[in-house]
Amino acid sequence: MYTIATVADLIHISASKPTVIAADVDHTLVDFDAGHEAGIKAIAKITDPKFAKRVDEIFQFLVLGNRTSINESWADRERHDALVASFIPHQAHDLKKYGNRKWSRETWMMIAALELGYEPTQAFLTKVRDTYWDAVAEHALLFPEAPEFFAWLKREKIVLIAMTGSDSVVNITQDTPAKLVYEPTASWDYKMKRLGKIPAHKILIGDPHDKPHQEFFNGVYRAAQEFGAQSPAEVWFVGDSKGGDLDVPEKDGYPTFLVKREKLSK
Ligand SMILES: [Mg+2]
Repeated sequence: MYTIATVADLIHISASKPTVIAADVDHTLVDFDAGHEAGIKAIAKITDPKFAKRVDEIFQFLVLGNRTSINESWADRERHDALVASFIPHQAHDLKKYGNRKWSRETWMMIAALELGYEPTQAFLTKVRDTYWDAVAEHALLFPEAPEFFAWLKREKIVLIAMTGSDSVVNITQDTPAKLVYEPTASWDYKMKRLGKIPAHKILIGDPHDKPHQEFFNGVYRAAQEFGAQSPAEVWFVGDSKGGDLDVPEKDGYPTFLVKREKLSK
């Protein structure tokens, strides 16, 4: 695994050019923190700062967990897994089939609502969820170096596959407390709305199998082959999450590049 500061560093790697680059989106091509921060500010306005802070804490902790490789020891692993397990009682879809949708903002908002005394109704959760995602869509923009990277891909005729995790947008029932029901197509449609600016030849979204599920990566490998890659060496994987983006392709023999921005926007 190589470490780079931004995707533009790939331009200067002295190795034969890949046929395909499979790139993560959030925190790799897109400044998701700027979007998330705007989302948190927006929900503080319609709830209160404590509520918004709790939702933010859950996000930051899950991102940290995602960045930590499953092979690394991490003192907070148990606390992380307990938090993720606490989402399950609120999720009413087929958990065997779709798993625990840990990136579902609605679930974090449900937890914050129950802790802070808000009634977790369909109307409340829908309003807070939509306020959050609308602000994210407006503020999560491409990193400044992304256009240079895209221009290089075009010049070198390198295929870009965007591989992005699921936002796990869920349907919210009318029960009180509401139940959260994941439906892959709806979540996919939702995510596609904010991926329009990325000139990818193909976009793979983690609905229903999310990174780092092997099935998700098998789909990326198949797509890379269809675009002409003849061996793993011709397909570079790039992302900011070791555990989410890179552990699996590295195990499967693909070159992997970890994006560690010198200064994260948050
Ligand atoms: Mg990412």
